[in-house]
Amino acid sequence: MMILKKLADDDKSRKETMTQDKNLKAKGVRWDISDLYARHDDARVAADLQEAVTKAKKFAGSYRGKISQDDLTAETLSGAIVTLEAIYTQIYKPEIYAFLAFTADTADDAIKALYARCQDLMAQVQNLLLFFELEVQKIPGAKFDRLLATGRLDTYRHYLEGIRLYTPYTLSEKEEQVINKKDLSGKNALVNLYTEYTASFTWQLEVDGEMKTLTGEEVRNLLRRPEPDLRERAKRAYDSRYGQNEIIFTNLFNAMLKDHGLEMEMRGYSSPIAPAHLRNRLAPEIVETMMEVTGAHNHLAQEYYALKARLLKMPKVRGCDLIAPVTEKQEVIPFDQGKRLILQAFENFSPAFNRWVQQMFDNKWIDAEVRKNKRGGAYCHGALPQHHPYILMSYNDDIDNVYTLAHELGHALHDFCAGRKQTLFNYHPPLVAAETASVFAEMLLTRKLLQEVKNREMRITILTGKLEDFFATIHTQNYYTRFELEAHVQGAKERLSATQLCEMWTKHRAEMYGEAVDFLPEQQWYWAAIPHFMHTRFYCYAYTFGALLVLALFNRYEEEGQSFIPRYIELLETGGSEAPESLINKMGFDIRRPEFWESGFRLMRSFLEELKALVVGKENF
Ligand SMILES: [Zn+2]
Repeated sequence: MMILKKLADDDKSRKETMTQDKNLKAKGVRWDISDLYARHDDARVAADLQEAVTKAKKFAGSYRGKISQDDLTAETLSGAIVTLEAIYTQIYKPEIYAFLAFTADTADDAIKALYARCQDLMAQVQNLLLFFELEVQKIPGAKFDRLLATGRLDTYRHYLEGIRLYTPYTLSEKEEQVINKKDLSGKNALVNLYTEYTASFTWQLEVDGEMKTLTGEEVRNLLRRPEPDLRERAKRAYDSRYGQNEIIFTNLFNAMLKDHGLEMEMRGYSSPIAPAHLRNRLAPEIVETMMEVTGAHNHLAQEYYALKARLLKMPKVRGCDLIAPVTEKQEVIPFDQGKRLILQAFENFSPAFNRWVQQMFDNKWIDAEVRKNKRGGAYCHGALPQHHPYILMSYNDDIDNVYTLAHELGHALHDFCAGRKQTLFNYHPPLVAAETASVFAEMLLTRKLLQEVKNREMRITILTGKLEDFFATIHTQNYYTRFELEAHVQGAKERLSATQLCEMWTKHRAEMYGEAVDFLPEQQWYWAAIPHFMHTRFYCYAYTFGALLVLALFNRYEEEGQSFIPRYIELLETGGSEAPESLINKMGFDIRRPEFWESGFRLMRSFLEELKALVVGKENF
């Protein structure tokens, strides 16, 4: 039987916890999605799908060949975009319904069939409408500027500029076709090989006195176990698998470096990281400043891991102990108690936020119950600005789940705010700002927990959890990017041997950890286990940017107080209608200055000091 423990040291919450005894695993917290459609066989589902296809055909009939013509007017272009948004809205609605229903019950065949049908028709509509963006790319520069100058396209300026971003790097139609075709058996085939091959890995390990066959995810989860020996065996086994396959991974990696290098050269990019900056709509010097400031704060990670060694009662942290638990007790936090904590955290920030969050619960837009056949993980789905978002997760009654719920509710708030001001094409925030509201919500929850929780062990759990989160998303991703950049620059000049790659990896890793961590020899192979390096080049710095942005914003909020809130809401309302720099500029921040990024590390430093005060000299408590 599970023992319920109180989270807060007051009698009220103890009573609350006891009465919820039977209510574990969010029993009964199911969503109601009937405001989309009553049922999967609702006649309106088929009607919406069919109508969207018909309208897309009509759109193609009216506009194909007209957008790139000389006599195109701003009115015609703006009218076309409004119609496009309406068509996408109509096809998204049944698709959202099918997606939600499918993830809530992955065993329902009727829903699966509907979801597949929605995806087919969605692809059909996209194909019918594809010409539009291609024609927008072809509008001559001077003409495009004149159209924008009329002021009639202001709402869609950012969207249109986004389409034309790649125009200077686009080759002739014939060349693009050749690249696309050759990618099928080239780059794409290599990525498929990597994905399928690594997914086929299993490991034989003795766990709890039993020999077990484990998947990669299961082995990685062993690193969260309290037994030091188990963690070491798990990490050695996991990373050495990549080393045993050095011929495969070294060849795959070199082929990807070469492929990227050749394509960058053909398209005329100045550096291998340039397309990522374009995708994120960030100036290269901003990213470089952020990365330099992050590197200059590696000592925070080193101080932290020295402290962690004391918590683990070890002379030094090993590479297999980075996410090891430092406390033994795991508090049980039933759903209603988690909900109360989150609502109070939002209430402390802004009563308006609290109301938006409250309606997510009141209107049953959250599915948190642990059930069979429900998809794993958690998400907030807010695909349409004129419709509220939904949240799906499996709530398992611990502090991690409270954080997950707060995180997803943060996304929901972002969706509410952007939905009030933006149209479909301007609604989704840019990648580097996509996690702003979610991580900010986690910070609000952290502050609330630190106010409320008096228990030393629990405070240590909260602080180490947050700090390790930040090291993993900020510092670690920073050295990943440094490694990736050096590999691309060097790999363009020569084929890199396995030894060179391992040395490069070890060197950049040491920049972060210094002498604070003893890595196992097998860990030199970990570069081969990072899928981002294969799938999407230079994706990792977006994590650094996103997390550091939130720390800087939160730091400002704590320094400034109430006057920060309306500006923050405005930031969320902007959605994806502006590039990251101007988005953040409007809040009065200059992300070109190192001081902006440094302010985020000040907040991290304060967490670290708080943790130190709990640990140093108090090991025997
Ligand atoms: Zn998220």
